[in-house]
Amino acid sequence: MFDELINTPIVQINDTIIDRSGVQLFIKREDLTDTYISGNKFRKLKYNLLNAKAGGYTTLLTFGGAFSNHIHAVAYAGFKFGFKTIGIIRGEEVLPLNPTLEDAAAFGMEFQYISRESYRHKKNPAFIDKLRDDLGAFYLIPEGGSNTLAVKGCAEILIGIEKDFDHICCACGTGGTIAGLIASMAGKKKVWGFPALKNGAFLKNDIAALLHGYASEPYQNWDLVIDYHFGGYARYTYELVSFINRFKKAHKIQLDPIYTGKLMFGIYQLIANGFFVSGSKILAIHTGGFQGIKGFNQRFGDLIK
Ligand SMILES: *Cc1c(COP(=O)(O)O)cnc(C)c1O
Repeated sequence: MFDELINTPIVQINDTIIDRSGVQLFIKREDLTDTYISGNKFRKLKYNLLNAKAGGYTTLLTFGGAFSNHIHAVAYAGFKFGFKTIGIIRGEEVLPLNPTLEDAAAFGMEFQYISRESYRHKKNPAFIDKLRDDLGAFYLIPEGGSNTLAVKGCAEILIGIEKDFDHICCACGTGGTIAGLIASMAGKKKVWGFPALKNGAFLKNDIAALLHGYASEPYQNWDLVIDYHFGGYARYTYELVSFINRFKKAHKIQLDPIYTGKLMFGIYQLIANGFFVSGSKILAIHTGGFQGIKGFNQRFGDLIK
């Protein structure tokens, strides 16, 4: 199923702001892992899919919001690798389906819509048992795909790179990706997470728990930069949108408005403010997320070019 370890390219970004501050900025193009399951979602699913297959499971079940990159990725993975998929979607059904769910349905995913209230029980064993009673056997992938096997997959993002970067930066949702990066750096240098949601405090505990499940040591060389969520998930400003559009024009790299756009905006601002000392080498992880652009543009009016 996954015979080769995918190693995505690293590119350097040159810009006046960056050059002026004396730092070097690189992007690891994880958005190039796979056309459909882009970026970190590919890394997070890899060992879960292998585990599901080895366990003889034929159905994957997972949780997500209606615009979730993770829902989209699981639906496609099921289609590609021969699993039935069930998506437990937060909130009521909205028709016509948004572009994310439309794709997921085309990949064969079945949806169960549950109230925001019920959705809060997504980690509750009794709730999961009830789902098994109702829907039959399934391999459970948690919301956002973040579990120990996801951390193992995300640790592979940094395999094979020269680890002479001083700062590794990534966008955070549920924290599995950064946990993998921290494990991979094994106590060296500094890893920074930029939450896309306003949940910085909870997220720190979640990351520590995910790390504890996988890494041999409770590494401390990481922190969250909580100033660049722009109000929360799918919230934005015109400043953010124009940054994303300018970045694409200048560097021929698409960013998404939910995660990677906020990450790069934050990195640029930190660089401009002199947060990284002159001479630093910064590596930003481009975690993909392009499937969300269509739905974002449909909701907010073709903002991302
Ligand atoms: C899901 C996602 C993230 C967040 O990853 P976590 O492991 O949940 O923290 C970041 N960037 C993109 C593009 C994503 O789709």
